[in-house]
Amino acid sequence: MSLLEVDGLTKQFGGLVAVDDFSLEVEPGEIVGLIGPNGSGKSTVFNCIMSIYDVTDGSIRFNGGDITDDATHEVVNKGLSRVSQESNPIDSMSVAGNIKLFTLPNSIVSLRGGASEREIYDYAARIGIEDDLQEMPDELPHADVRRLEIAKALATEPELLLLDEPFAGMNQAEITELAAQIERFREEGMTMVVVDHNMGGLMDLVDRVVVLNNGTKIAAGSPEEIAENEAVQKAYLAGEG
Ligand code: ADP
Ligand code: MG
Repeated sequence: MSLLEVDGLTKQFGGLVAVDDFSLEVEPGEIVGLIGPNGSGKSTVFNCIMSIYDVTDGSIRFNGGDITDDATHEVVNKGLSRVSQESNPIDSMSVAGNIKLFTLPNSIVSLRGGASEREIYDYAARIGIEDDLQEMPDELPHADVRRLEIAKALATEPELLLLDEPFAGMNQAEITELAAQIERFREEGMTMVVVDHNMGGLMDLVDRVVVLNNGTKIAAGSPEEIAENEAVQKAYLAGEG
């Protein structure tokens, strides 16, 4: 049984078909790359999986159960978490407070009991921001704000983590470090889908790549196959034009 099964997902905004009959299966332990030019529907797929958006058509199953019509907090409590492409920390709370928020009882995102200081430290340490715990988010460099967003997601103890543009705005050293951390999450037993608008960025990291263009899956295969795929190259050239 696949961990995640997206079947025939379609999402329309008025007359715009943002995602058209998209299917994706993710097996436990995989890191799957979801790439495509800007506007191709990648974030919309994540928003539908997380029930931020209602689907227009299709179904989403996680761990064998239908989650299509779940509320977002139910999806999170079942073990799915998403790091959005935009950071949204609460600037009046410390890094530690922002992480803790995601573990509090009755929080929109978690029904767990609220993490101890030790647990908060551990979430931060897993992504390398343990020295920033007492800082305020607006004092952090961009890469650390992005890592805070990942720590918030880790605090919900996901089995499947969806990462939307995790490398955007990072320099090469930061990208290399984050890729190594994502590899460690896999070793710890986490399954991941990683979105990137670039073709090159995540090819070394992922087992498999799925390519979206104008809401439609145009290719899927190994990173090597996708790098050589002419339809994918054409889509990217058109996207730049
Ligand atoms: P990507 O993440 O691949 O850049 P998106 O999923 O953000 O693409 O967007 C796909 C298409 O859906 C775009 O045309 C975008 O403008 C549109 N779209 C996304 N979210 C909304 C929304 N909430 N309302 C209207 N249109 C949207
Ligand atoms: Mg996006």
